[in-house]
Amino acid sequence: MGDSAEYLMYVDGGWRRAVSGATYDAIDPARGAPFGKVARGSRDDAQLAIHAANRARDTWGKVSLWERCDYARRVADIRDQHKEELADILCTELGKPRHGEAKMEADEASQPWRIAAEQAKYFEGHTKPAADPSKRVLTFWRPRGVVAALTPWNFPAAIPGEYLPFAMVMGNTVVWSPAPTAAATACKLMECIHEAGVPAGVVNLVLGPGNEVGDELVASRDTHAVGMTGSPQTAQVIASRAGVKPCLFELGGNGPIIVFPDVDPAEIAASIGFACFFAAGQVCSSGGRILVAERLQRDLTDALVEESKRWIHGDPWDPNVVMGPQNNLQSVNKVAAHVADAVTKGARIAVGGHRPDHPGFFYEPTVLENYTLDSLINREETFGPVAPITSFSNEDEAWRYVNACDLGLVSAIFTRDVERAWRWAEQLNTGMTIVNDWTHFWEHHLPFGGLASNRSGIGRIGGRHTLEFMSDLKIIVFNVGRPSEGLPPMAGR
Ligand code: NAD
Repeated sequence: MGDSAEYLMYVDGGWRRAVSGATYDAIDPARGAPFGKVARGSRDDAQLAIHAANRARDTWGKVSLWERCDYARRVADIRDQHKEELADILCTELGKPRHGEAKMEADEASQPWRIAAEQAKYFEGHTKPAADPSKRVLTFWRPRGVVAALTPWNFPAAIPGEYLPFAMVMGNTVVWSPAPTAAATACKLMECIHEAGVPAGVVNLVLGPGNEVGDELVASRDTHAVGMTGSPQTAQVIASRAGVKPCLFELGGNGPIIVFPDVDPAEIAASIGFACFFAAGQVCSSGGRILVAERLQRDLTDALVEESKRWIHGDPWDPNVVMGPQNNLQSVNKVAAHVADAVTKGARIAVGGHRPDHPGFFYEPTVLENYTLDSLINREETFGPVAPITSFSNEDEAWRYVNACDLGLVSAIFTRDVERAWRWAEQLNTGMTIVNDWTHFWEHHLPFGGLASNRSGIGRIGGRHTLEFMSDLKIIVFNVGRPSEGLPPMAGR
């Protein structure tokens, strides 16, 4: 990847420039400098891809399920052959440390492709009993049509795998638009799909700004479902543009981590550090705020300050570096604004709290103490390497902090008291609660998503849950009696 690298779109089985010929710079966030040019798609390019996906629908729907699964498995095999190159791209394009986070994501990127291929074969319909003795009722799954997939930049190799293979194996065709800062990673996946021989039009890649390309995909009458991972703010816009189309939204979080007085802060500090600092805090399941029992606050704060020192940041190609930059200037400014807001409202910076003095969009691993209920850090997703701690004197006070934020994706509680663990786990308003560990646990066959009463999303991703979203349930009723036998009694007959 030199400065002259060029990243193109993939439509109807071929690579292409934007209809307008426009491009934008691909930026290396660790240097804050360009490393290539990306084709800047517009509504016209989105339309071309939508047409291609609709043209491919009929033929793809007739390819047998077993064969569609073979294609997905082939993509997985080819991805595995390109792991090293993919890790290089993740390091360049996202600043992910090459020997840690980038390698980890590249190693795992093929997994959901295999899981989709395995699970689709066992995704059965049902026969249903009916009160009417002359009826036999069957349900089975059919494709929805053209799926619009919109993916974020934070795990740009892994997250497309949560949509694309599941849509494909169920017989849908796809138009995919990744976040503009993740185009190079997207092109690498598209190369693997092409090499696997997936027929033209089945998966199409359109690059460009979300509010043009993404909006066209969402609002078009010729797309039939939307799968989107991103921020609650974007989902709000999409929901208003998609009409009655089914939407799967996987959105942001601000995971509370609640630490009760019966645990040892030294034992749990590494788990909490990982929850807050991994991927420079740019994970939807990051530990966004920590509530600790009063008597443990000092020890936990000190332990996290020590922990923060292990998160060495800097040149992501350096084998000693474990934390990369924020994705873009806007993101790093948001982290700085959240920290400044907390400090203005009375919080103290225990460590970090600055942008380091080197190029790129870095922010130091930061531990904040005594943030207040109304601070942005308690109410909104920060999406940066910040571990904000505040203490509670009783459970009611802890609940007040937890409930001051209406994001609800992943929470964690640390306690040895089983009764308390159950009570809190059941009542916390998050899609997932982890007891006694970090917040990032998830595997691709498991359900994941936000609870309906908050801004963290709608629906569940993962394994059969994604297969379900990618399918319509068809119901067929067979009458096995004479046609008139089942008619209800009517007056006068
Ligand atoms: P984003 O909302 O800016 O963008 C997400 C996707 O939507 C991108 O593909 C973007 O191009 C597209 N988009 C933007 N505006 C659009 C519009 N008006 N119409 C249609 N599409 C549009 O999010 P981001 O900054 O790329 O990602 C970070 C966010 O993603 C964070 O909030 C994070 O928590 C969330 N996230 C959630 C999960 C999860 O599984 N719940 C996983 C990863 C990231």
